Amino acid sequence: MGRGERVIPGVWRLRLPLPWPGVPHCNAWALAAGDGIVLVDCGMDTPGSLRHLERALEQVGLRLEQVRLLACTHAHVDHCGQAAAVQERAGCELWIHPRRQHLAAQSDAPAAALARAIEVARQSGVPEAPLQEWAEGRRGADTGMSGPLAPARDLLPGVVAETDLGAWQVLETPGHAPSHVVLHQPEHRLLLSGDHVLGRISLYFDHGWTPDPVGEFLDALDRVEPLDVRLTLSGHGRPFTDLRGHIEGNRALVRERLDAVLAALSSRGEATAFELLPDVYGEKLMPATAAWLLTKMLCYLEHLEAQGRVAHNEGEPQRWRAAEEAVSEVGTPADGRLDLAADADRRADRCGR
Ligand SMILES: [Zn+2]
Ligand SMILES: [Zn+2]
Repeated sequence: MGRGERVIPGVWRLRLPLPWPGVPHCNAWALAAGDGIVLVDCGMDTPGSLRHLERALEQVGLRLEQVRLLACTHAHVDHCGQAAAVQERAGCELWIHPRRQHLAAQSDAPAAALARAIEVARQSGVPEAPLQEWAEGRRGADTGMSGPLAPARDLLPGVVAETDLGAWQVLETPGHAPSHVVLHQPEHRLLLSGDHVLGRISLYFDHGWTPDPVGEFLDALDRVEPLDVRLTLSGHGRPFTDLRGHIEGNRALVRERLDAVLAALSSRGEATAFELLPDVYGEKLMPATAAWLLTKMLCYLEHLEAQGRVAHNEGEPQRWRAAEEAVSEVGTPADGRLDLAADADRRADRCGR
């Protein structure tokens, strides 16, 4: 059920259900703007989803017809899926960042996007049987979009969204998605952070659209950190106050994952991205999460490759190894037994899971 609540005067959180395991809700945000509202994000299109949005608005005394502007933090279906439906009802403009080919590829040509995903998975060492099973589940699945996106304006730095609380400034924050932006309201010290920084730290990166999404994400964290923010309104979960702590938590988790990838590679010698998943993710690896985790793994490997710390062969499947320089940087222990002991530790770790 959609649910609405006032967060501060002029800002309402609209909590909308999602059909995803582990991600039960997303947030849309209504901002008072004269006799209407600015809506930031709008939820995914599923059967009955527009009713959930309407119900959430009704609970706080608002109506869909009052939406004067819909601005989306990024082109993921849980943030812009209902844009066409909202525009049809409210007659409002849509503003979103132009670098959204990652969504268009999925929503305009789902069969081609699926074929590409299968090829990437095969290249990453996913065995044929689970791969076909996964692909079967995806074939003909709903796109989560109520229609094609028809933006009136590119949501880029310099563009401002005017509300009763003042103007909201746009900052580009790619990484989670190439199209990601956050909106900052400096006088009231508010940040609409989309999925760039979430209350419960959880990482995701779109793979295959830019050379190094993890690097972009870390750069974007650096740009957001100096902003004066007392309350962060994110794309999922409750508002939170400690933005800097959350940014540091995101950095620490990225570091932890990169270290785990390097440790797994040094213990295995070389491995496909798929083979590294249980080493890095342990019990989080399940059929339902494998595709999502593989996407992240490829982004970590490409980030380490951009730093010259790992390399891969040109064959299929792609096999990764620590780069020569990276190995010598860590140093070869004078006593080879040290290495063996470390390996045995890691193997014991894996068995212990
Ligand atoms: Zn997202
Ligand atoms: Zn999201």
